[in-house]
Amino acid sequence: MARIKNALFSIYFGDQSTAYLKNSLHNYTQQEMMVLPGYKEFCLQNRCENIIILDQVHGNNGFCVREKKDVLLKPYTVRGDYIVSALPKIALAVETADCAPVVLIDVIGGVVSLAHAGWRGALAGVVTHAVGDMLKVGSLIENIQIYFGPAARSCCYQVSRDFLDLFEQSDPNIYFQERNGAAYFDNTLFIAWQLEKLGMARKNILLDYAICTICSEKYCSFRRQGQIALRQMTIVALK
Ligand SMILES: [Zn+2]
Repeated sequence: MARIKNALFSIYFGDQSTAYLKNSLHNYTQQEMMVLPGYKEFCLQNRCENIIILDQVHGNNGFCVREKKDVLLKPYTVRGDYIVSALPKIALAVETADCAPVVLIDVIGGVVSLAHAGWRGALAGVVTHAVGDMLKVGSLIENIQIYFGPAARSCCYQVSRDFLDLFEQSDPNIYFQERNGAAYFDNTLFIAWQLEKLGMARKNILLDYAICTICSEKYCSFRRQGQIALRQMTIVALK
């Protein structure tokens, strides 16, 4: 796992040690979630009184926390793949097992977004939608830092020729690799490429935590483990 902390925000990239079976928490209340291993330590350390997690559907819609009552949202009751908030001490969470957890932080304006982006969501523009919502609440693109978490990377993520055809964009050699006659996809680099197209500087796109979930066994991986794969959590909060 990895913890990134500073005066403005805190990020937790979880792994197998604090992972849960898909759908196993769907009836939990916020209070019940906030005492589970992983969530508990984060919420205590960052004095979070609420946690927001959506019913993830690999789409490109999200949930914006605008007013006090929004923070009371029951876990998993709204469908969506990103959350945007400018309120401090609210934990935002996503669960993944190969899909990319992507944290976006406006380090000047104090706005945070957390996205769940598999290839489907990424292709549908889930992270660019999250950026769009941050801009709507006043963030400037040059102030947004991006932290990519553990996800399937091109060292392992083999895809079919049909899959390649879905990506008609102009720079496939940035996020596809060809090795021994097989094609490999890097969803993280695909999203990073999308963000650069939006005008983000490469220096603000941080890949240090984007470890491949397929070949690093400390992470949950649907590709490696199949249906038994748990879901590792990513949590972020403004202070
Ligand atoms: Zn790998």
